[in-house]
Formats: sequence, structure tokens, C-alpha cells
Amino acid sequence: MASQKSLTLFVMIDGLRPDALAQINCPTLTSLIERGASSLQATSVMPSVTLPCHMSIFHSVPPTRHGVTTNDWQPMARPLPGLIDVAKAAGLRCAAIHNWEPLRNLSQPLSLDSIVYRDRSYDEDGDDWVAEAAIAQLTARPADFAFVYFGTVDTFGHRFGWMSDEYLRQAERADRNLGRVLAALPEDIHILVQADHGGHARSHGTDMAEDMTIPWIVAGPSIRRGHRIGGPVSLLDTAPTLARILNLPHHRDWEGVCVTEAFVD
Ligand SMILES: [Zn+2]
Repeated sequence: MASQKSLTLFVMIDGLRPDALAQINCPTLTSLIERGASSLQATSVMPSVTLPCHMSIFHSVPPTRHGVTTNDWQPMARPLPGLIDVAKAAGLRCAAIHNWEPLRNLSQPLSLDSIVYRDRSYDEDGDDWVAEAAIAQLTARPADFAFVYFGTVDTFGHRFGWMSDEYLRQAERADRNLGRVLAALPEDIHILVQADHGGHARSHGTDMAEDMTIPWIVAGPSIRRGHRIGGPVSLLDTAPTLARILNLPHHRDWEGVCVTEAFVD
């Protein structure tokens, strides 16, 4: 039986550019930046495409290592355990709530304690559904680690253009939905929120700065408050950083590093 721990929440806002934050009303993200450690110049991986990025986030290796280079999932070239698999092996209960189906493959079979999915990332109110599902799931069934994925900001980037008015309004909506989730959970949880990639015009996937630069924000009891991270941050560093928060071992094949600068001690 796993011991009762407080929740660590990992939130993805797909396709959110860090420079959007200065152009929108985002009280939730602003509050997390104020009470946490953050970089608005973190970097994605190539190709800056959703599924390759997520495989890299959870397994802490670049696409050249895991071999998933498009949004069509395939078995990893050389399999290695990801964050959820390591957490499961340590007896933690892991949950995922998302609205984009290919994300079913971010962990190995039997690693997730619960998964809530509906095909809603292409709907304007699709992240409202994610917020409601996350609140219902996480209040009814406690988890040690939860991945909550908001997919519609990316959809609006493809539909209307990155940094378009419609895109920015949808980013505000994601911020409101994140706020609703946090309001329903205990105040002393750890949370890490980031994007997978940015975008330009109506696309992403290149090595342009607009595609490769992402926001990366972490907050919680062991994290420095109001700290702007000075060193480089890669999305490969997410799993090692969450592993430290969750008191999990760093898997030897992970290539990212824990962002130690973000921690109090
Ligand atoms: Zn994406």
C-alpha cells in the first residue's frame, strides 16, 4: 500500500508561447510565477511536434533516442521507463486527464492508476471539459501524481494563427481552467506547468525560436518563490525535476537534469 502523499500536478498547455503571457489576462499563471520558479525561455526539442515532445518530456530523452518523430505513435526505438513508470514502480498512484488520444502511450501498460479521456481538443470548450474531469477525478480518487493536458490552445493556433486574437483568448481560457482545477485542490501541492512547443503562423515543428521556446513554471513547498531561473531549461529536464519532487530515483537513461536552481535547498 502506497503511503499517502500530497499530490504533484503536471499541467500541459499545448502550444502556449511564453510571449503570449504578456499579452493576455492570465491570473493563474501569473500567480504561479510569483510564488514559484520559472523560465520563459525554456526549450523544446526537434521536431517541435506534440507527440515527439511529450515522449521526450516523460522519458527525458530526445526524439532521436526514443524514435517517435511524428504524431503517429510507434513503439520506442530503444524502450526506457518514463516518469509514470518509475512512479508506479515506487508505489505511487498516477492519473492522467487529457483530451488528445495519442497521449495514451506516454507510459507503459498498467502504470496508470486512472485515466480520463475524451476526444475534445478540437472543441472550443474542450479544455473546460478537461478541467471538470480533472476536478471530479482528483477529488474522488486521490493520486500522488497527475498529468492534466489542455489541448485547445494549439488547436486555435493552427486554426487562427499563433498570437492571433483568437489564440490569445483561448490561452486566457486555459488559464481560467487551470485556475478552476487549482481552486479545487489543496493549496500545498506541487505543480509544474509548461508547453510542449510554441508556434508561428499556423504551424510549428521547426527549429525557429517561435516554435522552440516554451514557458516552464514550477511551484510548491520545496520550490523557491518568485525566482526567475537563470540557467537553461529543456523539456528533457521536466521528468528529472518532477522525480525529485516525488522523491523518485533518476533513471540512468534519462538525459535531462533536475532543475536544482528551482529548489529551496
Ligand atoms: Zn503540441
